[in-house]
Amino acid sequence: MKLATLIAATLLALPAAASAKPLFQPWIDGIQAGEPQMQVQRYDADTYVIRQSVKTNFEAPFLYLLFGKDRVLLLDTGAGGLQVRPTIDRVISDWLKAHHRASIPLVVAHSHSHGDHRMGDAEFKDRPDTAIVGWTAPEVAAFFKIADWPHDIVKFDLGGRVLDVIPTPGHHPSHIMIFDEKDRLLLSGDTLYPGRLYVSADQFAAFRDSIDRAVAFTRDRRVSHVLGAHVEMTAAPGKDFPEAAPAHPNERALELPYADLLELQAAVHAMGETAVKDVHNDFIVFPLTPRPKR
Ligand SMILES: [Zn+2]
Ligand SMILES: [Zn+2]
Repeated sequence: MKLATLIAATLLALPAAASAKPLFQPWIDGIQAGEPQMQVQRYDADTYVIRQSVKTNFEAPFLYLLFGKDRVLLLDTGAGGLQVRPTIDRVISDWLKAHHRASIPLVVAHSHSHGDHRMGDAEFKDRPDTAIVGWTAPEVAAFFKIADWPHDIVKFDLGGRVLDVIPTPGHHPSHIMIFDEKDRLLLSGDTLYPGRLYVSADQFAAFRDSIDRAVAFTRDRRVSHVLGAHVEMTAAPGKDFPEAAPAHPNERALELPYADLLELQAAVHAMGETAVKDVHNDFIVFPLTPRPKR
């Protein structure tokens, strides 16, 4: 091995070691009586991660707000039980002030349209300069100009910040992942997050194909972090909170290493044609079987 190659390999290995340091301050976890309904954390000046309090809805989802020069993308609008628009409008207005601008168009999109990711949509219906992406796969495909869903991966330019939209049906027919070339983040929705990755038995093949598509696209793109839409794992490897837990004491960090996407890929391929419950340190593949008839 040449020295330069060795150095490059060493540098590539560094982020994994450095990832022991959490990317964010502790998230609201339902333990403090007076925690806010939403918590905004800045990833960088153009990237914000927002958590909905588990006290407002047990799903406690994460929302993402990504600014470009020409528009800002809101990914998901929460699980209901609170007003999300005032928080989003405040972050946007602070950003505008910092950039000495009066306005920026907003695009409201969804990782997928399960109810816990779109309940705030109605709040944005009458918002000026705002486009809301529809909830079905054909509507998502039409908005992002994806001609061959789910095979085509398309670019969505926020203005000096290009996102790649990766169709990833399986968990839900309209699911997408978003790769952000600027920060090299992979926003993975409910397809991969630290928790129970629900997939119904009849969608398992689509889920597996979507993981393959996401891996094929991101393999050489040096993903910095995989950021999903929930946390359901405790800090203890392989141990999740009970379903609908009212609080998340000692919660695992939100960010996952890229290696977890490869681990998920290997796991779903090892299952053959039938999904089985499969507990990993950072996630649990969780098949949903149709309820038996009685
Ligand atoms: Zn979902
Ligand atoms: Zn969800």
